[in-house]
Amino acid sequence: MGTLKFLRFLAWGLALGLGPWYGNQSFCAIRPVSLVPENNVNSVRAMLKKRNAIRVLIGSGVKEVMIQGRDIERKIFVKNERKYFAGRASLAFNCSGLAKLKNQNLHAGPILFASLQSPQGYFSYQNELYRGQIKVLAKREEDACDVVNEIPIEHYLQTLLAKEMNGSWPLEALKAQAVAARTYAIHKMSDKQVSRAIGSDAFYDLESSEKHQVSGGLADVTALTRQASKQTAGEILITSSETIVPIFFHAKCGGRTLLPQEVWDNAVEGYQGVECGKCENKGEREWKNVITVDRFREFLKWAFREGAGANTLVELLNNEKLIFVPDKIENKRIKVYIGEKLFMVSKTLLRRYFGRLLVASNNFSLKAHNSEIFIIGKGLGHGVGLCQLGALAWAQQGMNYRDILRHYFPDFKIEKVY
Ligand SMILES: [Zn+2]
Repeated sequence: MGTLKFLRFLAWGLALGLGPWYGNQSFCAIRPVSLVPENNVNSVRAMLKKRNAIRVLIGSGVKEVMIQGRDIERKIFVKNERKYFAGRASLAFNCSGLAKLKNQNLHAGPILFASLQSPQGYFSYQNELYRGQIKVLAKREEDACDVVNEIPIEHYLQTLLAKEMNGSWPLEALKAQAVAARTYAIHKMSDKQVSRAIGSDAFYDLESSEKHQVSGGLADVTALTRQASKQTAGEILITSSETIVPIFFHAKCGGRTLLPQEVWDNAVEGYQGVECGKCENKGEREWKNVITVDRFREFLKWAFREGAGANTLVELLNNEKLIFVPDKIENKRIKVYIGEKLFMVSKTLLRRYFGRLLVASNNFSLKAHNSEIFIIGKGLGHGVGLCQLGALAWAQQGMNYRDILRHYFPDFKIEKVY
């Protein structure tokens, strides 16, 4: 553990009054947000002038890539070969023979293997229809390919809105979501987060997955998602210091939104926790799950595994009873006595450990009863940023997207970057 990291752990532990005990903070759900100059709104504008298409990972670790389309131009970069396939064509790439290629290329990271373009601009891959270009990458660490779709940002958003929200929701809710998702995507492009994470050029900006944002194919576009993108084209949220930061959203906050640093490791400039006041009547009012005290003991071992007294904690956990301090939904931390010693642990760690199926949101309370612990909560998702069911309710009430965004992001402003 580096000194700085250690001091950060220590400060966190001391802030919670944990004495020698402090929780493990080494698992980053998001990477630290660095406000490097590229994230200034003017640099972002300049970047988008050069490149207005986003590169989305749509297939990962694939052994054989099959792509269909019409009038395809195929470039194989490693052979410097360009070939044109007139009419309807189905092209296959066998990715299990690429290991040799990688030995010839000594740089780390994936290799751009092939790209496909067509004047129609449509490709079919795994039963989805995609616009734009397709790129096939040879993965470095395994004998397999990644598949990337390079698509204009607005087309990308039109497919995303149906997946991340609902293509039939009111237009103003979809527009609020479009601005939020556009900001998230453009931040990923300008910050080059994925490439920085793998230590070389990743050839894509983000994944189509819950880790980043889920986008779809052409079949997911509706008249409303098209309108939502067109009517907000180029609009993103920026901070009062004119920087672009990741804008998060979730299904349902359950009452109040959370700050990024309450859920992950890092603070993000500009965020505020706000009363939502709208989503509680949408969907289930409450969720409830149960875990055994033994599973909770395992969780505590995990949560404190890198602390200075981890061994002592394991000993305590193996020998002493757990007594929970009565919990309330507003409490950010769980308080539990192990024998005589009081421990406090962030509720968000419980969700990270047990996952979204058992802990649907970060907005819950614990109730211990005999050898079971009930987790009773409200909301769905991490709780940071835009509350989608809240946005739906506001839009149904006639609020426009600008006011919806102002409600959840009061310190941000909307800026048109292209
Ligand atoms: Zn809400």
